Amino acid sequence: MSETNAYRIAVIPGDGIGKEVIREGVRVLAYIAERARFGIAFDTFPWGCEYYLETGRMMAADGLDQIKHHDAIYFGAVGWKTVPDHISLWGLRLAITQGFDQWANIRPVKFLPGIKRVLNRPDLGDLEWVLIRENSEGEYGGFGGRNFSGRGAGKEIAVQSSVFTEEGCERIIRYAFDLAATRSRKKVTSATKSNAQQYGMVLWDEIFARVSKDYPQVETEQWLIDAMAARFVQKPESLEVVVGSNLFADILSDLGSALAGSLGLASSANLNPDRRFPSMFEPVHGSAPDIAGKGIANPIGTIGSGALMLRHLGREAEAIALERAIEDAVGQGALTPDVGGTFNTTQVTDAIIAQLDRHLPQ
Ligand code: ATP
Repeated sequence: MSETNAYRIAVIPGDGIGKEVIREGVRVLAYIAERARFGIAFDTFPWGCEYYLETGRMMAADGLDQIKHHDAIYFGAVGWKTVPDHISLWGLRLAITQGFDQWANIRPVKFLPGIKRVLNRPDLGDLEWVLIRENSEGEYGGFGGRNFSGRGAGKEIAVQSSVFTEEGCERIIRYAFDLAATRSRKKVTSATKSNAQQYGMVLWDEIFARVSKDYPQVETEQWLIDAMAARFVQKPESLEVVVGSNLFADILSDLGSALAGSLGLASSANLNPDRRFPSMFEPVHGSAPDIAGKGIANPIGTIGSGALMLRHLGREAEAIALERAIEDAVGQGALTPDVGGTFNTTQVTDAIIAQLDRHLPQ
């Protein structure tokens, strides 16, 4: 908390449904702060694809400086058809995650009561996985280039290198083990492709084996990413904490949240665990141009990310209250169309807020 005795949150709604869902997330956090009697102040930054069309930049030139002293960042989504995806992603979201060394991307996948799962396993209880994504290097290191277009049509080459450092692998793998050690079923599953990626991912595997020796109480499994994708569908009960590289864990988290019912449900935290920089909280989904402006985006991924933010800020009781309020509202049928309901974005938020008083500490 800053000296004004209020949490200062940098809000970046971004593009498409990002703007619609972040508005709802802010409404929920402001309500919780009022009821729990703590201060919270939101500074909104207009960065994104519209900003790019006006200024030629996805964010202000000194954007990182403008938000580096905030307690947390609340992010909607980035990407719109007017700007190439690699420019919008690198110019905003990756500029923040890499600039602030937010090396741990935490993506819980919860199977909420009342939501029809795509995964057709009625024999299983409520699954709760946590995907831990390496968020600072790997396939998203940004190393490479394009050349030889001057040789004529069809002759250009592109090189995109992945970067795996011992330090980068070890810190994320250790994070996964530390988290697993706090859960009732202590297990970490690692996904690589070290048969084909014989340098970086073999290094990852070796570090995984080394770190696992420090956690004899934690069960481990290692799978190739293709087998792992099948495992999510065929043996979901075998998964608890899953750790993977930047690209692989990104793909698995979309798979996981789709299996749980919708991409719109999934929350995520981009953490700088060292706390040298603010961490960023955002839904897993993107800007979803197909439903933008219709008022039907599912706000739960974003509101759930607000719970992750509260936990990071040391507000555990309020985080739990919010998670319970989401479960209650969903269980009572507050569902947007992507999960088979008829509620709009605002109505789902209202239903969650209506449940909060029962759960917030008095
Ligand atoms: P990105 O690459 O930025 O993650 P994406 O291409 O994976 O984006 P999304 O924008 O995440 O795509 O959306 C994929 C589809 O999932 C959308 O077309 C939309 O129908 C659905 N979807 C995503 N988020 C939501 C949401 N919050 N509510 C309802 N449907 C959603």
